Amino acid sequence: MALRQPEEFTTMESASRRTALQRMLQFACAAVAVPLTVRAAPTCGDATSEPLRESLHYTPAPSAAQACAACSFFTADGNGACGACAIMGGPVDRGSHCDSWSAKS
Ligand code: SF4
Repeated sequence: MALRQPEEFTTMESASRRTALQRMLQFACAAVAVPLTVRAAPTCGDATSEPLRESLHYTPAPSAAQACAACSFFTADGNGACGACAIMGGPVDRGSHCDSWSAKS
């Protein structure tokens, strides 16, 4: 069976192939975008404490109850999503978490 040249495909076959390719591209984009939007990276950073943040696994909080905003080391600064952390010595995202999290008493 000989391969057909592109100009030999019917309009219907070309449309189906185009639709299939568009759907595959949409699926690939969604597969990349969903994890990025579900677990967004913390936005309140401080380059000088980055090694400490990495060692304490500073990440988005697994739940609101375990977020920086509910941690005894957190102080809200009234500046939106950021607050200050006594452990990190700088700004942290109130929705983040690290291994040193301790419930406010
Ligand atoms: S110690 Fe960790 S969990 Fe607590 S405020 Fe600082 S970064 Fe957030």
